[in-house]
Amino acid sequence: MNTPGTVERPLCIAVIGSGPSGFYAAEALLKAPNVTVRVDVFDRLPTPFGLVRGGVAPDHQKIKAVTAIYEKVASDPRVRFFGNVKLGRDLSVEDLRARYDQIIYAVGCESDRPMGIPGEALDGSFAATDLVGWYNGHPDHRHHRLDLSCEAVAIVGIGNVAMDVARILTQDAELLAKTDAPSYAVDALRSSRIKRVYLLGRRGPVQAAFSPKEIEEIGEIERASLTVTNEDLLLDDVSKPGLIDPRVRKNYEYLSTVVRRSGGAKDRRIILRFCVSPVALIGSAGRVEAITLERNELIPDGNGGVTARGTGRLETLDGIGLVFRAVGYRGIPLPGVPFDDRAGHIANVEGRVATANEVVVPGEYVVGWAKRGPSGVLGTNRADSIATVQAMLADLKKITAADRSVDPSPEATPRLLAARGVKSVDFAQWKTLDKIELTRGVEHGKVREKFTRVEDMLAALHMTEPLSPVDGAMSAD
Ligand code: NAP
Repeated sequence: MNTPGTVERPLCIAVIGSGPSGFYAAEALLKAPNVTVRVDVFDRLPTPFGLVRGGVAPDHQKIKAVTAIYEKVASDPRVRFFGNVKLGRDLSVEDLRARYDQIIYAVGCESDRPMGIPGEALDGSFAATDLVGWYNGHPDHRHHRLDLSCEAVAIVGIGNVAMDVARILTQDAELLAKTDAPSYAVDALRSSRIKRVYLLGRRGPVQAAFSPKEIEEIGEIERASLTVTNEDLLLDDVSKPGLIDPRVRKNYEYLSTVVRRSGGAKDRRIILRFCVSPVALIGSAGRVEAITLERNELIPDGNGGVTARGTGRLETLDGIGLVFRAVGYRGIPLPGVPFDDRAGHIANVEGRVATANEVVVPGEYVVGWAKRGPSGVLGTNRADSIATVQAMLADLKKITAADRSVDPSPEATPRLLAARGVKSVDFAQWKTLDKIELTRGVEHGKVREKFTRVEDMLAALHMTEPLSPVDGAMSAD
């Protein structure tokens, strides 16, 4: 039996997506004993690193330093990077099946969940992902027109994305000026007139999704005071047992200190509210200007958890110019790949792609948020990717080189892309972009000045004509 994975016939693997979970999967494959692998990592953008570049907040530079690990993986001669290659546009799943023994989808959750309430489509109502992409210079999000001239903003949801958004909107913009946040975002945040940010949790402090470190960071923002009322911290009988969890207890104890301290003379306020759900956004002339909230009570959900139930008691927060829904991410279906619509990610059984009735699709796997939904921190994806790679290696015994008519030639993919006129960007070219960004960063006294348009990246690599004006510290138009 001729199983791929030898020096003569390496196991050919395509990883779709170059974010943390994709690179952790590639890393695990490189470390697999007694298997010779060849790993091609694809990304729809010319730049690698997914959410680390486009999602992690720019004031969390230490977290972004994790890219050093991914660089090491990408520099291994067994790994190639194909940036600016999009599955579904430049390549089909069939193309991959014809060239790779195994395929790993590491595409994350690129869309957001709607709140499903009236007024959600008003101007000024955004997904948190829009703002996150905007302040990270993501090519898909640089265009958003965020009117920061309003006084009050509502953020729906109190997970760590909501914490990032609240922090970025209220801290001194000068703290971002030295980071890799694009200059257009720093300039807009400098002239922001936002004074109040409401953080709206539908359940109570015990059920809050934020982590202790993140809420403490919110409480320590120099320019903004965090407020939470004593009434909001009163626990009902369904919530009290939750305090046994050390994370929950830490959150609760911290919030108790926040209640006791005075707000001081800071010019911005973050108002944390519990047990409220938005029921409508109210606007005039197509723009959001208020949000109606319903007070919730907490009840057992029948599965050992706690859920929110509306009480019918309504209140309206007026003067709201922007609403960000930070109620969770959702995957976007890939053409030809089974999708679990209810869960919002690729359908799979423990990392093996599977149809709705759990019939496994041979040779296809999934990692990260695309596998389990948007949960956990960056490191969670490492163990998760290792688990999927173990499944892949276990399945190896089941495939022979003759099973699938795979063309294992290293030239098979570059040939196809060239024939289709796809301008793919390799890792050395990314390093050229990286160097330009870092140099521009030095010129502007910051970590880096990112390219925020794909066209400008390709022009800088002399692959296309430059757009005018050339990207950089320019406005986001
Ligand atoms: P999340 O942690 O799941 O939080 C979602 C929030 O939205 C929860 O407060 C949830 O409330 C609320 N929500 C959901 N549906 C709602 C609805 N219909 N109406 C009102 N509220 C609703 O998700 P996330 O904040 O998007 O974060 C995703 C993952 O990335 C998490 O694992 C997070 O820790 C991670 N992350 C980490 C960092 C960091 O480490 N600094 C930064 C950003 C993100 P319920 O709890 O009641 O469902």
